[in-house]
Amino acid sequence: MRPEALNPLFVDAQALEGVGPKLMRPLEKLGLTRVRDLIYHLPERFVERHAVADLDKATVGENIIVALTVREHRSSTGRGPFRVLAEDARGNVCAISYFGRASYAAKKALPVGEKRWIAGRLDQYGQMLQMVHPDHIAEAASALAGQVREPVYGLSEGMTLGRITGLVGQALKPVPDLPEWCEPGLVERMGWPAWREALELAHRGPNPLARDRLAYDELLANGLALMLVRASNRTQKGLALVGDGRLRSKLNLPFALTGAQQRSIAEIQGDLAQSAPMLRLLQGDVGSGKTVVALNAMLIAVEAGAQAAMLAPTEILARQHHETLMRMVQGTGVEIALLTGRDKGRARESILMGLLDGSIDILVGTHAIFQEAVAYKNLALAVIDEQHRFGVSQRLLLARKGRRAPHFLAMTATPIPRTLTLAQYGEMDVSRLDELPPGRQAIDTRVIAIDRMDDVAGALARHLEGGGQAYWVCPMVRESEGDDLAAAEARFAALKVRFGDDVVLVHGQLRPEQKDAAMERFSSGAAKLLVATTVIEVGVDVPNATLMVIEQAERFGLAQLHQLRGRVGRGSEKSVCLLLRSAELSETGRKRLALMRETQDGFRLAEEDLELRGGGELLGTRQSGDTPFRVATLEQIQKLLPIAHDDARLLIERDGGLSGPRGEAARLLLYLFERDWGVQLLRGG
Ligand code: ADP
Ligand code: MG
Repeated sequence: MRPEALNPLFVDAQALEGVGPKLMRPLEKLGLTRVRDLIYHLPERFVERHAVADLDKATVGENIIVALTVREHRSSTGRGPFRVLAEDARGNVCAISYFGRASYAAKKALPVGEKRWIAGRLDQYGQMLQMVHPDHIAEAASALAGQVREPVYGLSEGMTLGRITGLVGQALKPVPDLPEWCEPGLVERMGWPAWREALELAHRGPNPLARDRLAYDELLANGLALMLVRASNRTQKGLALVGDGRLRSKLNLPFALTGAQQRSIAEIQGDLAQSAPMLRLLQGDVGSGKTVVALNAMLIAVEAGAQAAMLAPTEILARQHHETLMRMVQGTGVEIALLTGRDKGRARESILMGLLDGSIDILVGTHAIFQEAVAYKNLALAVIDEQHRFGVSQRLLLARKGRRAPHFLAMTATPIPRTLTLAQYGEMDVSRLDELPPGRQAIDTRVIAIDRMDDVAGALARHLEGGGQAYWVCPMVRESEGDDLAAAEARFAALKVRFGDDVVLVHGQLRPEQKDAAMERFSSGAAKLLVATTVIEVGVDVPNATLMVIEQAERFGLAQLHQLRGRVGRGSEKSVCLLLRSAELSETGRKRLALMRETQDGFRLAEEDLELRGGGELLGTRQSGDTPFRVATLEQIQKLLPIAHDDARLLIERDGGLSGPRGEAARLLLYLFERDWGVQLLRGG
């Protein structure tokens, strides 16, 4: 149960004054549904304004507060703005401009002949000074006294800065003082404020110390939770698995294992031989050959008389794994079954029976395979493919209800830098497949401006006429899913005009049957061009597809681009990846795409992407899901995560039950950052 002291923080945002169902929607979009979320919605930056007696004392580009007298309203002509002409005490004229509906309110707020105090950014329009949509208008100077420095918060549609500022202010009021969970020596050395003070300071003005402290809290919570998983895992009893090699020796592989594959298998074999359950991450670039490593691990379990299960994130991937594994074990007598959420009735019953009586050795499927109703005779190893979401291993640990805990192998192709690996998978041991199977050809990667679309379409036509297949990827970014989907559908329609029935479309909102049907047409070669919106759906292996076009490539993370690109270059043919970029590209954007052209080493891409983004990142900018953190920025993660993890390890070594005074405070921290499954593991033992 959550400690009482934290209750005021977990109150629903709807309980705040002025928040009704209508405002909840934009709040939900920002992930701000409780008081706790609001207090951690830290400003992206601050506007600093200075009050000037007249416009001569201000320079263009500055944020100012100035008194102006309204002289004239000029209605918009055509698509131009509505302009209010106003002058200062010395007769300097400034146009205050409004676009769209804002002009109605402006007419009222700025009556002709009246003097008003106006806060906004001074710009220039031709020869004239201008303010576009000023931030505040007041009838007296004193009313703007609080606006000299103002936080700027991340917004969503339907939310104004004034609103969110007010809500954060309300949310901060009931924040209690909490005992110190950080190591006191560290707090002193760093000069950090206490937690509550840090929150207030961080909302009030730019304050790196306060921001660091809050980020550190989050990193410490994360570190503690991971260490608790590790510690709890050590106390679990699993089944020591020693295989005799009889099945593995019968495997019919058309290739020799790479050194990295052999090394990883040996590491896994070492873990499986222990009775403490394995908790291992297999990290390997797309195409590095993780499947066969997983198969070896599962065969060890089967040789030892137990069962193994392999979880894939989508049905398509589950099907594909099933086929691949079946091919590899041909002639060994190993029974592999496939179970997805769509299997119903008889077929499902028969699989459940087979699992229970042990006639099925290996089960492949989607999350259905770990459901309540699915009982195994002797499950000893769980493999999870493409785990890039934080928390799976924790849920898995909590789900260990049986007498014996299965060994656990997670696999990911997301190349993430070492610091982030530690942040996300710090509770696991890591094996890295840092060597690609021999004979892979480099993928010819080119960056092309979107206005050369005709050339791209021409190249695509030639490629398809030559018998090749191709992928066309459109971006899908959460904030504007609707628009992106529309963009993908429009692109699909346009390509269909040119290429007819050779084109199929796959996106996340199709029904599974539709998706499978489209995928099936593409992998069988009936369809030549696959238009897709997300990464997962292209998690397929079609060696004949050797051309990939990625639209608005600058909107993707490098790791994501890299993974997408990995879908081509799977066969012996030379592959090409065209990164279409917008006409306008930031300096960082340009560098990132250049990097894609330069290297195909996923780990290097990940490290350099972190460098590129880490440096230029704004305070408080939320990462797009590539870290498990909401408060800590990439820069802070790099700087503070190693300290936080050391600190967490020490604390758990000294007080594994978190029962001393600092341990108690640390429990609060775990609840605060919703890593309370860590606390539950403590109790479960
Ligand atoms: P991953 O899951 O790591 O992206 P896969 O396991 O799907 O990669 O393997 C990619 C391709 O490489 C498959 O076609 C597989 O058969 C092949 N492969 C795996 N290991 C080797 C190897 N040692 N030598 C040659 N080809 C290999
Ligand atoms: Mg794979």
